[in-house]
Amino acid sequence: MEDGKPVWAPHPTDGFQLGMIVDIGAGALTIEPFNRKGKTFLASMNQVFPAEEDVNKHMEDNCSLMYLNEGTLLNNVRVRYSKDKIYTYVANILIAVNPYFDIPKLYAPETIKSYQGRSLGTLPPHVYAIADKAYRDMRVLKMSQSIIVSGESGAGKTENTKFVLRYLTTSYGTGQDIDERIVQANPLLEAFGNAKTVRNNNSSRFGKFVEIHFNEKNKVVGGFVSHYLLEKSRICMQSKEERNYHIFYRLCAGASEDIRQRLHLDSPDSFRYLNRGCTRYFASKDTDKQIMQNRKSSEHVKLGALKDPLLDDQGDFNRMCGAMKKIGLDDTEKLDLFRVVAGVLHLGNIDFEETGSTSGGCILMNQSSQKLAYCADLLGLDQEDLRVSLTTRVMLTTAGGAKGTVIKVPLRVEQANNARDALAKAVYSCLFDHVVRRVNQCFPFKTSSNFIGVLDIAGFEYFEHNSFEQFCINYCNEKLQQFFNERILKEEQELYQREGLGVNEVHYVDNQDCIDLVEAKLVGILDILDEENRLPQPSDHHFANTIHSQHKDHFRLTVPRKSKLAVHRNVRDDEGFIVRHFAGAVCYETTQLNLLLEKLRSTGSSFIRCVKPNLKMVSHQFEGAQILSQLQCSGMVSVLDLMQGGFPSRAPFHELYNMYKQYMPDKLTRLDPRLFCKALFKALGLNENDYKFGLTRVFFRPGKFAEFDQIMKSDP
Ligand code: ADP
Ligand code: MG
Repeated sequence: MEDGKPVWAPHPTDGFQLGMIVDIGAGALTIEPFNRKGKTFLASMNQVFPAEEDVNKHMEDNCSLMYLNEGTLLNNVRVRYSKDKIYTYVANILIAVNPYFDIPKLYAPETIKSYQGRSLGTLPPHVYAIADKAYRDMRVLKMSQSIIVSGESGAGKTENTKFVLRYLTTSYGTGQDIDERIVQANPLLEAFGNAKTVRNNNSSRFGKFVEIHFNEKNKVVGGFVSHYLLEKSRICMQSKEERNYHIFYRLCAGASEDIRQRLHLDSPDSFRYLNRGCTRYFASKDTDKQIMQNRKSSEHVKLGALKDPLLDDQGDFNRMCGAMKKIGLDDTEKLDLFRVVAGVLHLGNIDFEETGSTSGGCILMNQSSQKLAYCADLLGLDQEDLRVSLTTRVMLTTAGGAKGTVIKVPLRVEQANNARDALAKAVYSCLFDHVVRRVNQCFPFKTSSNFIGVLDIAGFEYFEHNSFEQFCINYCNEKLQQFFNERILKEEQELYQREGLGVNEVHYVDNQDCIDLVEAKLVGILDILDEENRLPQPSDHHFANTIHSQHKDHFRLTVPRKSKLAVHRNVRDDEGFIVRHFAGAVCYETTQLNLLLEKLRSTGSSFIRCVKPNLKMVSHQFEGAQILSQLQCSGMVSVLDLMQGGFPSRAPFHELYNMYKQYMPDKLTRLDPRLFCKALFKALGLNENDYKFGLTRVFFRPGKFAEFDQIMKSDP
């Protein structure tokens, strides 16, 4: 970086701003921004990056830029996004920015056709190009492939996953039922596993790995879905302005009168599991008005004040029923699913009160008997059994020599509430397992040669309060990040080796220590938790203490500061721990996935990094700082570091030959492509440190290919 040349310097909201270095101090640079001349500011050396000469120029593969750094990456993605080019490559990794509107023809059938059989890079970057690469790799290498889609909530993981599935079944299916079923399984899974959150109106609250299986002729024969980490807390409680799983509202809005009666459905307002976290969109007076205005829409009547103006629960109910039909569920099966959903709702409405007797304990409140009866009937349970299991707990005594006498200990109201919620979560989570199992029965296959699996799983998460559910998601991401590092690094090194470049090992940010902290035998967080649960009197406080005493001075682990947690929630300040994840520090309150990784390791892999452009969920708004942090968290900035130290641009000899022969004298063009390139580079006087000759292609240092190309085109 030199005085006077354009640089990217930090900007609080845009991520970076264009400026010029006007002074170089001991630890800091003085920058003069380009747009607000005069107001100079200081920035530390490692926050300032060289900018491209033409900042409006954009590249399909970010590695073709002259300078590979976070400033030029963010700018490249920004310029492309402003032209509705949402996809960008960084070598073979695809970055996808959520456009929040339907870009005309981007996913049209003719677009699908155009990508079939075409190598990556021959057409504009696209999720279809990644899908086709996976398919061609599977066919040529005779090896299963996986596509790992990552990003934060609302970034577009699930939509891109669906585009991949649609692409593969359309392009390489047999045109039979099975193709359509693989696609139609999604609306069903989403009804039971997605919910509206503040970050995404259709947020998947479970991770999934969808495998499309192919026969020896590389045609689609079937599919298989595995699911991970369904969020259970949502079943009983939602945060402000969030909803429970879609199915609950859809059933209330769309069920026929007959089903409504059989399931004793009412409007969502009347169910505890639906009416607590949710915003009431209409005051009851307004509801009446709405009903008047929407006489045709019975949905308003059935959903009452909880009708979300952004969602069409009734229409979604009908679409879901359509999908159920397409994948082969009959009316009986459908009703059985709905019975359980309604059963959970009625369970949630059971209330308890103290008995007032000296033995403590509680009984059902008077008006709850009806709910108990509905719930027992819908879930196929005995009413009395249900009542007893909600109000007592079983204890095995060894007193008096009588071995294993079962006694029932009465529960206090608060304990009974917990028992009810725990049962609701268990029932719903079994229902979800069943839905996935049932979906898998609709695309069975007898033999399969290989598969392409698409992984759609929530990215690093942190909320104000983080529970075990976030811990599991973040741990999983830590493992996936390690896999990403391994793969990108390994592939890069293998290519250098195959091509005989003799390049030293490339370094990267290793996160093994964070993974060890979680999974180490005996002293890892998971084992400590397990041990705590075996204690006669497990406690949050003791658990947190054990973690801290086992890992004194671990750089990834700290005690939460009082200001952050304790003061706010009035708890002891040592009642938790903070893990510094790859993506930043997350504070866990102390109040799983190896099989998947084994599978991923046994396949070839491609990566799609989804990016959320803004928090408002609107189109054409690019919030730079926020996007930059996503690019950093997804490991893209580390990849650039890796590329910057290596040879990120590469071109096969024959391609260079074809590209440049027109500029060369006949004598040179009679040489074979490799010799042609050698002679050309010598004639141009290129610096030998800037490129390396492999067996089949030339490798360029970052930006050097672009430089070379410029020379060729400007000075024939
Ligand atoms: P994630 O699974 O990462 O949480 P989704 O895939 O559900 O996010 O995307 C959230 C919303 O963003 C979608 O419901 C859709 O409205 C919009 N969206 C995502 N990707 C696209 C796209 N490629 N084109 C148009 N809209 C999109
Ligand atoms: Mg999703």
